[in-house]
Amino acid sequence: MGFIEAIFGASATVIKRIRTAQQLVRNYIAGLVDEVLQERVAENQPASNPTPVTVNIQIDIKNIGIEETDLEKKWSRDGSLKQSDIEKLEELKKQREDKFEQWQKAKTQEVVTEQATNPDTYETSFLNNDKVHILQFQMGQVVLEKRCVCGRPMILQHRNRADGSIFLLSDFFWSCVGYYNNQCRGTQSFQTQDIGLMHKANILELQLSNTELSQSFTRPLIQKTVVRLRQHLREEDKDILCPIHHVPMVLREKDKSNHSNIVLDMFYLQCPHFQCKQIVKLKSLAQIAAFLHRKEERGIL
Ligand SMILES: [Zn+2]
Ligand SMILES: [Zn+2]
Repeated sequence: MGFIEAIFGASATVIKRIRTAQQLVRNYIAGLVDEVLQERVAENQPASNPTPVTVNIQIDIKNIGIEETDLEKKWSRDGSLKQSDIEKLEELKKQREDKFEQWQKAKTQEVVTEQATNPDTYETSFLNNDKVHILQFQMGQVVLEKRCVCGRPMILQHRNRADGSIFLLSDFFWSCVGYYNNQCRGTQSFQTQDIGLMHKANILELQLSNTELSQSFTRPLIQKTVVRLRQHLREEDKDILCPIHHVPMVLREKDKSNHSNIVLDMFYLQCPHFQCKQIVKLKSLAQIAAFLHRKEERGIL
């Protein structure tokens, strides 16, 4: 798709081949409308007010999960399932994947329409090693318009730095969602040259450099942040979906015995599906800011 590398579900877009500061959001928007909306119109989809579509599909996906859980609990309790139930489980998984495909199309249209109709509320940041937090702000989100060679969507990951050194842009990569089902181990490296991210302009944390962001996170602010995060425990984050079940993950706090009382080691999102072990750790300031921003329209600052 031309110069769009990926679109994040919470409305940010990775743009490639951005070389000059003159290539501003407005120009980009015009291209975006051409590339994506025309494509959708050709598919005879309504171009306005798509929000209810994604909401309704999410409800369908949840209901599929509930039906599936009944059978999974039966399986776990009895140690076996009759053939017709096993077939039913397979059918439900297939239904969910179909629904998720529909959701991705509707969501792409929703995001693009939002960006195209409100261009003044967006700005583009050029990514470099002191802007990695802008990318970290998007971690865990469903990625649209970014496909693995196998056809599945990909999500943004970064390699871990066990020594605690700061992240570089080259630490990031795309990973196939099929990885979580043991179906595909596809990865793609994250392009680090001429790359921009168009994001909402009203996010304070994204106006700072990565270093400035860490420096502004003072002790009193940390305490306030923990209090605010705790108010959202057990709540869904509608932009972070389980890569297997495609339902919103839920905020949890680690057991007290299990964390070192450092805010970056205390909170995570977990899939609410029966026995699902998928989690997304909130292990950077940018991720915590993003979570709070999605919940309260205000980050950590
Ligand atoms: Zn794949
Ligand atoms: Zn799950």
